[in-house]
Amino acid sequence: MAFPVAESPLLGSTDKRIYWSPVFDEYGLICQPSAEILQIHHCPFCGSRLSESRRDKWFEKLEKEGWKIWGDPIPIELLSHDWK
Ligand SMILES: [Zn+2]
Repeated sequence: MAFPVAESPLLGSTDKRIYWSPVFDEYGLICQPSAEILQIHHCPFCGSRLSESRRDKWFEKLEKEGWKIWGDPIPIELLSHDWK
């Protein structure tokens, strides 16, 4: 069984400035030319509060699946935006 390799789509050049992680439901500003993301909690245009990050819940769920370190396989269902 093959697992997708985690690779940042932001490496190299992009003209995008806003990042959204479908898995974590997290927003950020893209800090070119690195692939760094500055996480934001409010919309930079209108100031609305953005959705709460699901990052902590995601890692909790992943650890319940037996995951320990980077390099361990990540279940495919956790790589989609609608994981539960
Ligand atoms: Zn807005």
